Amino acid sequence: MDFSLSEDDAQLVELVDRVATEKFRPTGFDDRENFRRPVENMRLLGELGILGICLPEDVGGAGRPALSGILAIERIARACPRTGAAALMAISGPGMFIARWGNEEQTARYLPPILRGDAGWSISLSEPGAGTALTDLATRASINGKVCRITGSKTFCSNAGVNDHILLFCRFGAGTSGIGAVILDRATPGLTISKAHHHMGGTPWHELFLDDAEIPLENVLFPGNAFRKLMGSYSLERTAAGAWVLGVAQAAFELARDYSMERQQFGRPICEFQMVQTRLADMYLRLEQARWLVYKACVDADGTASRLESSAAKVAATEAAVFVTDQAMQMFGASGMSQEMPLEWMYRMVRPYTVAGGTSDIHRSMIASEVLGRRLDHRPGRG
Ligand SMILES: Cc1cc2nc3c(=O)[nH]c(=O)nc-3n(C[C@H](O)[C@H](O)[C@H](O)COP(=O)(O)OP(=O)(O)OC[C@H]3O[C@@H](n4cnc5c(N)ncnc54)[C@H](O)[C@@H]3O)c2cc1C
Repeated sequence: MDFSLSEDDAQLVELVDRVATEKFRPTGFDDRENFRRPVENMRLLGELGILGICLPEDVGGAGRPALSGILAIERIARACPRTGAAALMAISGPGMFIARWGNEEQTARYLPPILRGDAGWSISLSEPGAGTALTDLATRASINGKVCRITGSKTFCSNAGVNDHILLFCRFGAGTSGIGAVILDRATPGLTISKAHHHMGGTPWHELFLDDAEIPLENVLFPGNAFRKLMGSYSLERTAAGAWVLGVAQAAFELARDYSMERQQFGRPICEFQMVQTRLADMYLRLEQARWLVYKACVDADGTASRLESSAAKVAATEAAVFVTDQAMQMFGASGMSQEMPLEWMYRMVRPYTVAGGTSDIHRSMIASEVLGRRLDHRPGRG
């Protein structure tokens, strides 16, 4: 078993680290409460070919393995969480779905702006009555000649107020097999996007109201029978979310490590106290354990991480990031809690990710299902 990075990935990490440290880091933790899409940073990543790194070469990507994208997301997030989040959506989000499942027209229209860093995308799955029980989603789509009409309401759609397009999951027929996906442009007639609400950490989310919203037939990605395929691609995005939170937590760890060598109490640096050393060691352990699960979920993933590995990576990474950012605040004492320091924001950025992308509970249930080799049904009378 070889744990070293390939030569290509080592060069990629060096390039991303250099660009992220020089260009993103100086402002990466500024303006924490006002969400703004990091347009210039994304264009720079586009010019460097990083946003299409995992897409196939025939659609303009670099054809590199999933691990390359994960490494890039982690390193970008360490320097600038918001650019890391936008890169995550470009590298492992809707572009990946369209490259894998889209037709020629969708690929030609939607992929180039993603690769250049020009287009922002949201993904909409959650509904007021369908959170963890996603297959209960009720937003209906029907195809009539050359148009598709959609009616229903969605919730918790991150950044829908500023992004150009939404990959929306909806129902073309009954049951799980009736679930499909469409591409919505912002200006879709019949689509209303609510005012911004905010999660802790400042990321805005919106409700979507679809009242006979009309899209051309070309914007239908899947008219049903898509749930398993879409969830397969989504598992890579979850693993990428693990890389993103680890990048943010790594930045918090480094701040805490450096501070422990500078801050003096009782006439000596606090890193000379054994309890501080234990705290640093525990932070390191949690980061490394989670990092290897995230990387392992990507190796051989070929665009689709396995359910077991992506759930394990997601739970381990998000819980490690919450632990590490919390411990980093503790290391700084009162300064760690100050809103003048980035640490409490780092904590608020990573904390929601034990819920976003599927809660830790449901991922633990999926892990147990794989370990037991049994389908675990959560519905009454079927468990
Ligand atoms: C920061 C953030 C960003 C998000 N962005 C998006 C987005 O862009 N697009 C989008 O569509 N959604 C988004 N979401 C929504 C997210 O996907 C849902 O919050 C998540 O799937 C959980 O659904 P819920 O909030 O309705 O909780 P519920 O499903 O109501 O769950 C409530 C509690 O019950 C537990 N629970 C439920 N069922 C089970 C079970 N079978 N076994 C054990 N425990 C269970 C849950 O773990 C949880 O603790 C985002 C959420 C957050 C926090």
